[in-house]
Amino acid sequence: MYKAWTVEIWRLIGALLTGLVIGLFTEAYAWSLLFTLLLYIGWQFYQLYRFHRWLLTGRRSEPPPASGVWGELMYEHYRLHMRNRKRKKKVARLLRRFTDTSAAMPDAAVILDRHFQIEWFNDAAGRLLGLKPQDVGRRITHLLRHPAFIAYVTGEDYRETVEFPGPLDIDLRLNARIVPYGDKQYLLSVRDVTRLYRLEEMRRDFVANVSHELRTPLTVITGYLETLTDMDEVEPVRPLMVQVKSQAERMRRIVEDLLALARLETRNLNPADMQEVPVPALVAGIAEDARVLSGERQQTIVTEVDADLRLRGAPSELHSAFANLVSNAVRYTQDGGRIVVRWYADDAGAHFEVEDNGIGIEPQHLPRLTERFYRVESDRSRASGGTGLGLAIVKHVLQRHGASLRIDSQPGRGSRFTCDFPPDMVVPGGGTVRAAGG
Ligand code: ADP
Repeated sequence: MYKAWTVEIWRLIGALLTGLVIGLFTEAYAWSLLFTLLLYIGWQFYQLYRFHRWLLTGRRSEPPPASGVWGELMYEHYRLHMRNRKRKKKVARLLRRFTDTSAAMPDAAVILDRHFQIEWFNDAAGRLLGLKPQDVGRRITHLLRHPAFIAYVTGEDYRETVEFPGPLDIDLRLNARIVPYGDKQYLLSVRDVTRLYRLEEMRRDFVANVSHELRTPLTVITGYLETLTDMDEVEPVRPLMVQVKSQAERMRRIVEDLLALARLETRNLNPADMQEVPVPALVAGIAEDARVLSGERQQTIVTEVDADLRLRGAPSELHSAFANLVSNAVRYTQDGGRIVVRWYADDAGAHFEVEDNGIGIEPQHLPRLTERFYRVESDRSRASGGTGLGLAIVKHVLQRHGASLRIDSQPGRGSRFTCDFPPDMVVPGGGTVRAAGG
């Protein structure tokens, strides 16, 4: 830089000296100086003109040769321009690669702004969701109007995914997930899960059909076994008959539980199923049944119930879920143990809780307890009449009621199973906690 300016200053000094020398000969110093200065300014104008012309031609060729400050100015400009061009090319290449990849992606990808308005979408989004270029800027919930999808988007809890039928072809089953990123931006990704859904449907139908088909012959078999065990002729094989009868009874219970699960899975809870459930009365009945089940085992079954607390839900389903938890407590608590059944509300909603001081569960089993046929100790479960399906039924019923199951347990100390119902499922009205022994 300094060199260029030194050249420039020398050039000016040169022009002035030339003016002085001419002045020496002509003896008209002022005119001579003016003349050389004008020449100098003219030369500067000419450089400016060349620079301008080069800029206007699009700076494609190298800058015209120039020395001093002008040379540096043009060269520096040219260098920056070339660097920018390279960068632009790189960004364009990246962008092309990104659009090519996203176009080849089988999943729909839609970028949404903070108001869920579409900013960009890929080709698959056009195919699966029917989005068109003119939809950019429109709200996604105005275009995909399935209630489950709208509830998912507006619910702002994106840990789970949501399934809904395709807007263009209702035979398609789509699975959507929203991933928040950056400053309140969202990526909506939608997969076609039709094949998986059909397989799952086939599995459900198969289990439901098999259970249904087995139900009648099993009823007949248990009926005949009942009659046979009562006959005097079977006296020599009576212990055997009792065994057979108890196994047939177990099969019947498994079939009933499988059918109950199939019903929970195939039919959605519709508003007609939802009633005001008098949970306190329900709990009293369940506790009574539990005392019968406990029989001679000297267990104490206590209820602590908010007598005015009611819930919106399907009564038979809630009965089945609560009864399963209480019967588990009876079956997995030693003779003389204590079981407390609670029904109460707090700020987080309503809670149904069963606490026992029974055998408890090792922590590694807890995440898997609600899987079908998952048992900590198969023998103990079977011996106590368990089907291995009880907690799976509980989980499904709770899911359908927007509730969740919490399990706290310590081996050898006991367990606490809590069903947490959201506040909007509670029927308004307050009450006090009352205790009843048993
Ligand atoms: P099961 O018919 O075998 O009881 P569940 O699905 O109801 O099936 O329960 C799954 C497993 O969870 C049981 O086999 C048992 O090992 C364990 N479990 C359930 N409730 C309790 C409890 N209150 N105390 C200890 N273990 C329990």
